[in-house]
Amino acid sequence: MQETILVLNIGSASVKFTLFSTPSLEPLFFGHVDITDKALTIQIKDNKNNCIYQHTLDESNYKNQQEHALNLVLNWLHQQEHFMHVKAVGHRVVHGGEKFSSPVKIIPEVILELEKLIPLAPLHQPYNIAGIKSIFKNNAKLLQVACFDTAFHAQESDIARSYALPENITPLKIQSYGFHGLSYQYISETLPEPFATQKNIIAHLGNGASLCATEDKKSIATTMGFTPLDGLPMGTRCGSIDPGVILYLLSNNMITKEITDLLYNRSGLLGVSGISSDMRTLLNSKEANAKKAIELFVYRTVREIGSLIAALGGLDNLIFTAGIGEHSPAIRQLICDKLSWLNVNISAEFNVQNAELISTETSKVNVWVIPTNEELVIAKQTLNILEKISH
Ligand code: ADP
Repeated sequence: MQETILVLNIGSASVKFTLFSTPSLEPLFFGHVDITDKALTIQIKDNKNNCIYQHTLDESNYKNQQEHALNLVLNWLHQQEHFMHVKAVGHRVVHGGEKFSSPVKIIPEVILELEKLIPLAPLHQPYNIAGIKSIFKNNAKLLQVACFDTAFHAQESDIARSYALPENITPLKIQSYGFHGLSYQYISETLPEPFATQKNIIAHLGNGASLCATEDKKSIATTMGFTPLDGLPMGTRCGSIDPGVILYLLSNNMITKEITDLLYNRSGLLGVSGISSDMRTLLNSKEANAKKAIELFVYRTVREIGSLIAALGGLDNLIFTAGIGEHSPAIRQLICDKLSWLNVNISAEFNVQNAELISTETSKVNVWVIPTNEELVIAKQTLNILEKISH
């Protein structure tokens, strides 16, 4: 029977998994559990994209929804023969802090370090850790590997990572860590040569959104920073704001918990539109505030692209990825139109087809649409550690 690796991506609103065969890393099954206040919905597909299991639980009184969602996944997996042969579990862990700049085998000391980083990624880190603990509860001996969204940025220069603050003011080093690194790594490895090593900007535009400037497949600079709040406006996160705003909110008697909720959950596309965090809903709306939210998203993305072009000293390729980047011709068109001064030109026809290369032949910058696959990067990193341990 084929041996497998389970990849888990546990967030605040979903648990996603893929079961890969080893060593070929062919996906066998993938699925997700969507978590809302009212229900947990699990959907699992096979490698031909056929839905093979779907179930909704309508109860809302789970103490720990993520654990419950993960148990739904594990219960289903336990009935599959492939799962008997899981050799390792790879986890997406959003923040690796200063200590982890490459994937690690998870031991109790690692969990303690990851817990210190919870305040730096409150929407993700606690759920990532809960998943790890839950798996250990089921099987204390199984190899678990943490794969970090921050790791890809660890090679950025000290200057690119620094803030103009005095050093050592807190136990955790205050610097830009950057995120979405698993996605940036996948895109850098997938873009064909010789383009992959050129001066590139990857636009990971999903519910969380950031940009990364790369050269020689390495991160030069990125828009997210100390936390995944920084940079572009996102579904519900504010992106860059003047830090003075937070001081002002504090002086207006808002407490940390309220400010955290405001900046992480009630801002971004949702906050500006007052309608939705979902780009599709906003694109379909005629409301003025929906239009404003889209306009602000595009404006800020283009401004940050300008900043990254300056950091790179040029631009050869612009690559769109993640939910909005992969599926929204309208947003890609709006962004590229505002870059026409750079001689960025895209073909309307290729753009609506979500084609891989959407720029025209005369465009000075190649514009690509490449679907990301963070799970495959996690599976590769996990397999690597598994092989090192077994030899
Ligand atoms: P996450 O960061 O949760 O992984 P995704 O990468 O799945 O998020 O991206 C979710 C975002 O992608 C949502 O804002 C959603 O509206 C947007 N999206 C997905 N499909 C489309 C589409 N066809 N047109 C516009 N936006 C889309």
